[in-house]
Amino acid sequence: MTQPTSLAQGRSYLAIPGPSVMPDAVLRAMHRAAPNIYAGELVEMMPGITADLKRVARTKHHVAMYTGNGHAAWEASLSNILSPGDKVLVPATGRFGIGWGQTAAALGADVETIDFGKQSPMDMDRIAQALAADKNHAIKAVLAVHVDTSTSIRNDIKSLREVLDAAGHPALLMADCIASLGCDRFEMDAWGVDVMVTGCQKGLMVPPGMSFVFFNDRAEEARAKMERVSWYWDWTPRAHATEFFQYHGGTAPTHHLYGLRTALDMIHEEGIEQVWARHSVLARAIWAACEAWSTAGTFGMNVADPAHRSNAVTSLRLQSPQATELRDWVEKELGLTLGIGLGMAEPGDPSWHGFFRLGHMGHVNGQMVMGMLGGIESGLRALKIDHGTGALDAAAQVIATG
Ligand SMILES: *Cc1c(COP(=O)(O)O)cnc(C)c1O
Repeated sequence: MTQPTSLAQGRSYLAIPGPSVMPDAVLRAMHRAAPNIYAGELVEMMPGITADLKRVARTKHHVAMYTGNGHAAWEASLSNILSPGDKVLVPATGRFGIGWGQTAAALGADVETIDFGKQSPMDMDRIAQALAADKNHAIKAVLAVHVDTSTSIRNDIKSLREVLDAAGHPALLMADCIASLGCDRFEMDAWGVDVMVTGCQKGLMVPPGMSFVFFNDRAEEARAKMERVSWYWDWTPRAHATEFFQYHGGTAPTHHLYGLRTALDMIHEEGIEQVWARHSVLARAIWAACEAWSTAGTFGMNVADPAHRSNAVTSLRLQSPQATELRDWVEKELGLTLGIGLGMAEPGDPSWHGFFRLGHMGHVNGQMVMGMLGGIESGLRALKIDHGTGALDAAAQVIATG
């Protein structure tokens, strides 16, 4: 009998934590001739896009758009708030918290980092101590990553606001929701977040290239006190545009706007609460499988407590180099691409090949998740990697019962 070269022919599946799977409807919306940027449909689309973005972020306040990735939103948010010498507090739970802090340092900020390591969420008591020690209120902002995509730890942003309030500390609360928006519940206004940054290529299901900074009136007051903000990063004309070019600080990311329009329609048609609920069931199915695999061999989940796990991404470990071997096998043999480990070990360190991640953000459904889990089970068997049994049964049970 003829043996197949591999089982990868067919539609491939990119299960990395961003960029996420692009809906065909988003891609179709982008596949068009260049639109006029001076009048017509694209110009008229902007107020609706702005309003619908705010509905996803659960804010009534302001949003500025940038033609750039998440790092651009990091820099944009900080550029409106910080002058050289200003102090920020960074409670880090992974590579992305550290990275936002480094962005602030590069802008001349004095960065105090509390590093909670790679497996624990923020400890609110330690943050309260740092705030209490800051008697002169030198800390101007707290930079908090909601879901750190490297470790897959989800932090309690609402509690962080309560800690700031209890300390009577006026620092702005800034949240990075680049991984979590549209996946894990996030309530900007209800939780008292002053500034929130996100990108378009994760829960928002648009190819990389746009990012967003949401800010409230407190943040706007802080911006007004700045001596100087660069023309390009200034959020004021972008959020309060009277001319189309002001939204984008120049030529608009035309096709991305069409993709974004469609993605927002998809989100609001489903309902944001339902979008969160879908991500929750799919994440619990993934965790059930991972917990079963973890009962034998070296398979392990990075975040022990489900309360601190994200619905968008799951960080996992095996014995090096098994994670790399598994990723290579499912990609080559099945057309399934899993995420590399990020920030868990330095590239070049042999232990780097023991980490990997699953992205389950955005345009993901039950059959995709079951297919991904089945692919991993196949890879573990093909490579004879010791693992616990019953993973697919456990996942199916979650899918079946919700
Ligand atoms: C993806 C991500 C970033 C970086 O976004 P880029 O678009 O790659 O610049 C920052 N923070 C978090 C939490 C992310 O998931």
